[in-house]
Amino acid sequence: MKNCLVTGGKGFIGSHLVNFLKRKGHYVRCVDIKPTSILDTFEDDFLYGDLRKFNVAHVALQGIDWVFNLAANMGGIGYITELNAPIMRDNALINLNMAEAARINDTERIYYASSACAYNRNLQNDPGCEPLKESDAIPAHPDSAYGWEKLFSEFLYKSFEHDYGLKVRIGRFHNIYGEHCVFSGGQEKAPAALCRKVIEGREWMEIWGDGKQTRSFLYISDCLEAVYRLMNSDFSDPVNIGTTDLISIDNLALLIQKIAGKKLMLRHNPDMPQGVRGRNANISLAFRVLGWVPETSLDVGMKKLYDWISSQMPMM
Ligand code: NAD
Repeated sequence: MKNCLVTGGKGFIGSHLVNFLKRKGHYVRCVDIKPTSILDTFEDDFLYGDLRKFNVAHVALQGIDWVFNLAANMGGIGYITELNAPIMRDNALINLNMAEAARINDTERIYYASSACAYNRNLQNDPGCEPLKESDAIPAHPDSAYGWEKLFSEFLYKSFEHDYGLKVRIGRFHNIYGEHCVFSGGQEKAPAALCRKVIEGREWMEIWGDGKQTRSFLYISDCLEAVYRLMNSDFSDPVNIGTTDLISIDNLALLIQKIAGKKLMLRHNPDMPQGVRGRNANISLAFRVLGWVPETSLDVGMKKLYDWISSQMPMM
């Protein structure tokens, strides 16, 4: 059993990860700039602090074997398109501090939550695009400041591995969804935002862009299993953590309508951000090195998400 630290442990993935690690029997410390999470978490120790300050990272890492570094300033496509400088600055500071604190504290290993946003935008111009494989990140041309920072920090951790022997694990998440996520206020992602719009809608619902843009979505429990296997593995290069089930945003909205038993017109808004045209994950490396494949279909996972969001919203 390990002494684990989950940074960003009050966030969506972090809160699920804290409880997952507790169920595995580990000691879990959590650090976050937010005092509470949507999901109740059962960590042994909570440190309320800002990882942009080196001392917070240093204190958080005392006595820790394994770090799951998930803390980041992030949100959905509207949020990460709008805010460039705060995202670059905050996330780079968090990662610089975490890498250095892990080095000083002789941390056994550190997991870094990278993103599909690190990939070259030129490979994502078509809704029917080829699934992205890990080597497609170079040559680099991410479509957002958020993606550039993710790529920078991957190299940062690899440099600490190269120069100081820090053991790093890097997972590139592709659109993780599930219950206990943000579904309003601006930081929500497409699956949650679309569920909310279906619940609120009377005759129509708004879709950002032309709705033909495609993505693949991974359910939270599959994500946690992949992160855990990667942390336990000896593999230290980036690995995609996603699915290959590509779906357009229009079809995702129609799937949610079907789950809800509701029929709404799709009203497209071309002025709102929609990101790259198509993005899918090649997960053969994850299968090869971790023996991992996702188990939850989009229909099943989206029904769980929809039911949870419905339970949180007043009846429409
Ligand atoms: P989230 O926003 O729900 O969680 C991030 C957490 O980090 C929040 O609780 C936030 O308060 C905390 N945080 C932010 N700044 C901090 C600071 N300065 N000090 C301490 N804590 C701070 O996001 P999430 O969806 O759970 O994502 C977790 C990680 O996975 C992030 O690094 C994100 O970039 C990455 N990721 C997520 C997805 C996804 O689909 N959710 C996709 C790709 C990558």
